[in-house]
Amino acid sequence: MNLILPTPPADLETAYFNPGFLRLSNLNWLNLGFIVAMHAGAVAAPFFFSWSGLAWMVGLYCFTGCLGITFCYHRMLTHRGFRLHPVPRFFGHLAGALALEGQPFFWAMAHRVHHARSDQPGDPHSPLDGPWWSHMLWLVQRRDKKSRDLLVEKYIPDLKRDALCRFFEATYGWWNLGLAVALFVGGGWSWLLWGLCLRVVFVWHMTWAINSATHIWGYRTYETTDQSRNLWWVALFTFGEGWHNNHHAQPAAAYHGHRWWEIDTTGWIISACRLLGLASEVREPKEGRQAKNAA
Ligand SMILES: [Zn+2]
Ligand SMILES: [Zn+2]
Repeated sequence: MNLILPTPPADLETAYFNPGFLRLSNLNWLNLGFIVAMHAGAVAAPFFFSWSGLAWMVGLYCFTGCLGITFCYHRMLTHRGFRLHPVPRFFGHLAGALALEGQPFFWAMAHRVHHARSDQPGDPHSPLDGPWWSHMLWLVQRRDKKSRDLLVEKYIPDLKRDALCRFFEATYGWWNLGLAVALFVGGGWSWLLWGLCLRVVFVWHMTWAINSATHIWGYRTYETTDQSRNLWWVALFTFGEGWHNNHHAQPAAAYHGHRWWEIDTTGWIISACRLLGLASEVREPKEGRQAKNAA
């Protein structure tokens, strides 16, 4: 079937992340099929309940969601909010890979583009293009590899030089396959559905809520040029990432909770690593963790 798409915009970001190109004939069927399959597994999980399966779900949710996505992929790799000792750095990368949110290069590139273009044309996932687009539909669009490579060159040259990052970029699928096999061999369908499918779907939706919900609902402490907001329930389930307006105001800061009651679990872990001598060059919010210009 011949598809007539709008003329691609000259701008690379806008051409690559463009909801105007989301058509039935332009879907990434691999991504879509994988997302549907994981959701089917999550729906089936309650029929295979076991306490040990629940323990795997909670444990891996914290490991991959907190240590993997928020601590490693987001605050360390993407924003360079702190430096980390090689041993926890390895486990952070591993946890990030096991979250099944993609390889580190794409994740960090898309997120740096998000900060460069927040709620403007070229933002990978702005709810101004539709709440479902920002939540998950932006992930199921077929895109060309050449543009992806150009964006990777432009936005994450530092990570492309990072040997550990390159290692997990290359071995991403194997770690996940290994975990899936280990769960199934160790605990059958219960461990697989709870420790993999339900856990991954939960981490996905909470991460995706940062792209959708925290650009729609919540309060604003800082007058940023985007629609970002602080939303307590997203912060609770994403280990502090829901204080998204604070984060957009000061993206490089390692701490996202800027008021004493803005609970930032990931920030506590960064502080613990700092105390243990495992983290250094930790970037504080400009005005300390108590926002002086709080509304
Ligand atoms: Zn944002
Ligand atoms: Zn960010």
